[in-house]
Formats: sequence, C-alpha cells, structure tokens
Amino acid sequence: MAEPAQAADITNTPTGYGWCAWHQGHAQGVRLIQMHEQGSGPGGNCFACRPCREAYDLAPLADRP
Ligand SMILES: [Zn+2]
Repeated sequence: MAEPAQAADITNTPTGYGWCAWHQGHAQGVRLIQMHEQGSGPGGNCFACRPCREAYDLAPLADRP
C-alpha cells in the first residue's frame, strides 16, 4: 500500500501535527491516546504531544499490545 499523501488520519503515524487535549493546544508529534475512565480530565480518544505524554505517563494507543 502506498502511504497516504493527504490523509488526515494520524492515528498510526509516528508524528503528526494536531490538537493536544492535555495542554489544550496544537502541537507537533501528537499521538492518539485512549484514556481510561476518569472523573476529570480528557476522556475517550484524545491526542497528546510528546511533552504531555511524558508528563502524564501516557502510552500511545498504537504502542500498546
Ligand atoms: Zn501537549
């Protein structure tokens, strides 16, 4: 399969420019994070940038077994 040229789907790309739900801003290199149920904070499927992933110990969905 040829890699998508203009696809907006960045769920499985190593890096992508998108919205980080943790610092509430756009960032380079966001990854899809699936949050567990929580009383506060982002829920469901959200994207997080690298600094936020490290700060909040988030595991990208694609990196999980
Ligand atoms: Zn962030």
